[in-house]
Amino acid sequence: MDNSSFYDDHKFCPECNDYVTYLISMDSSYCVTCGGVVRLFSEDDWTNFNESLKSRRPKGGRPRKNKTGEDKKTA
Ligand SMILES: [Zn+2]
Repeated sequence: MDNSSFYDDHKFCPECNDYVTYLISMDSSYCVTCGGVVRLFSEDDWTNFNESLKSRRPKGGRPRKNKTGEDKKTA
């Protein structure tokens, strides 16, 4: 078994400062430990995630419109 489904079952709770099991409600997810709102990534992971997205974009080129919206999926 690997950890490929880890992020399916865990989200980051800022209160617990850890990835936790969460409950899903209408528009948010909540930590089962403290009841706080959880997010998909920790602050650091989110920053890294965004940085990696930026760095994948070609620099100095003309901005191109992405008609397919493929960008969002490939994260
Ligand atoms: Zn928590």
